Amino acid sequence: MKREELLKEAFQAMENSYAPYSNYHVGAAIATTDGRVFRGVNVENASFGATNCAERSAVFAAYSYGYRKDTIEALAIVSDGPRIAAPCGICRQVLSELLQQQTPIYLSNGKEEVDTNIAELLPMQFTEEDVNR
Ligand SMILES: [Zn+2]
Repeated sequence: MKREELLKEAFQAMENSYAPYSNYHVGAAIATTDGRVFRGVNVENASFGATNCAERSAVFAAYSYGYRKDTIEALAIVSDGPRIAAPCGICRQVLSELLQQQTPIYLSNGKEEVDTNIAELLPMQFTEEDVNR
């Protein structure tokens, strides 16, 4: 799937963002190697720790349908904030395990765009190799 199409999917997903507390809306979309798309949004909660980010929602959805890092082609994350929506620390940790290191990650807020990957976003990763002895 083309980069622009995946970003469009993420912006469409963002319309379903549930962010009554922060009013910071985020959408994400994952393209799989067989052409499917899994969307995710941030879903906030009055108990703030229970909030889930858009990119984790999307990657968990893809995994729920049996996709794995080798069948995920790209991830787009978009927001309506003043800056691009760079993944938070928790999401970087999750993505470091659930995406391949070089899987493209497209970031946009509609004004600014950055293409990156998890190797770039999270150096010196704590991985399954550290705990799986
Ligand atoms: Zn996050």
